Amino acid sequence: MSGDRAFSHVERLVSFGPRPPASPGIKKAQQYITDVLRRLSLEVEHQNFLASTPNGNLPMKNIMGRSPVEKGKVVILASHYDTHLMTNGVFVGANDGGSSVGLLLELARVLSRRKLSFSVWFVFFDGEEAQRAWSRTDSLYGSRYFVERLRARGQTGRIKAMILMDMVGDKDLVLENDLNSTPWLMGLVRDSATELGFGQHLSGNPMAVQDDHIPFTEVGIPAVDLIDFKFGPNNRYWHTPQDTLDKVSPRSMERVGQIVLRTLDKLSAR
Ligand SMILES: [Zn+2]
Repeated sequence: MSGDRAFSHVERLVSFGPRPPASPGIKKAQQYITDVLRRLSLEVEHQNFLASTPNGNLPMKNIMGRSPVEKGKVVILASHYDTHLMTNGVFVGANDGGSSVGLLLELARVLSRRKLSFSVWFVFFDGEEAQRAWSRTDSLYGSRYFVERLRARGQTGRIKAMILMDMVGDKDLVLENDLNSTPWLMGLVRDSATELGFGQHLSGNPMAVQDDHIPFTEVGIPAVDLIDFKFGPNNRYWHTPQDTLDKVSPRSMERVGQIVLRTLDKLSAR
């Protein structure tokens, strides 16, 4: 698990510029994610859909990488890869949208060499961010569509757990104690962090986070969100043009990656 490798993916993503849905930048990101997954010999599925948003119908694309050889149960590792739409400035989303994608690509590399008792799907959601103002209908476009398709295919029962990563690159890493995550799964994550000596990265204050794990918990799939919602001093960099590469820490990404790997070991032993 290398924070530097994860960081190099973030560098590439940021070089594509802003990546809101249906933008030139997100098309480059889609190609990049697809290429990296294919180089790891994963099968890549593009889930294309038209999202009805306050800014009209937008073409969106979830990307999924998985091993050609599948075992029964599935653990989903996920992140959104779109960036916040900013009309009055340049937003490149190094941390918000970038860091978790870089980490997920690095986890795909590490896990392609590991044996677990279940399959892992690497899922990259489009359209997590609101187009205008966050609401139930204006947010989480990709994850809502993904879960809708899972249900339509009768596959929700195959999913053992879903682990979401978002905003994992802050230098001052504090992972939220999210009340919307499934308690036993959050317990595994927090135990893993503590065992690794990363207890200082766990927030003591409970907080309910709205993120791509919500559509999963709503259909009864255990899901957890690893997110540091307070980005920079007084959350100063969140959804601002200051969300740039220099704010992203390879070490923070590496530690979150280690927590995820240990959580997978615990899930594998259950
Ligand atoms: Zn965001």
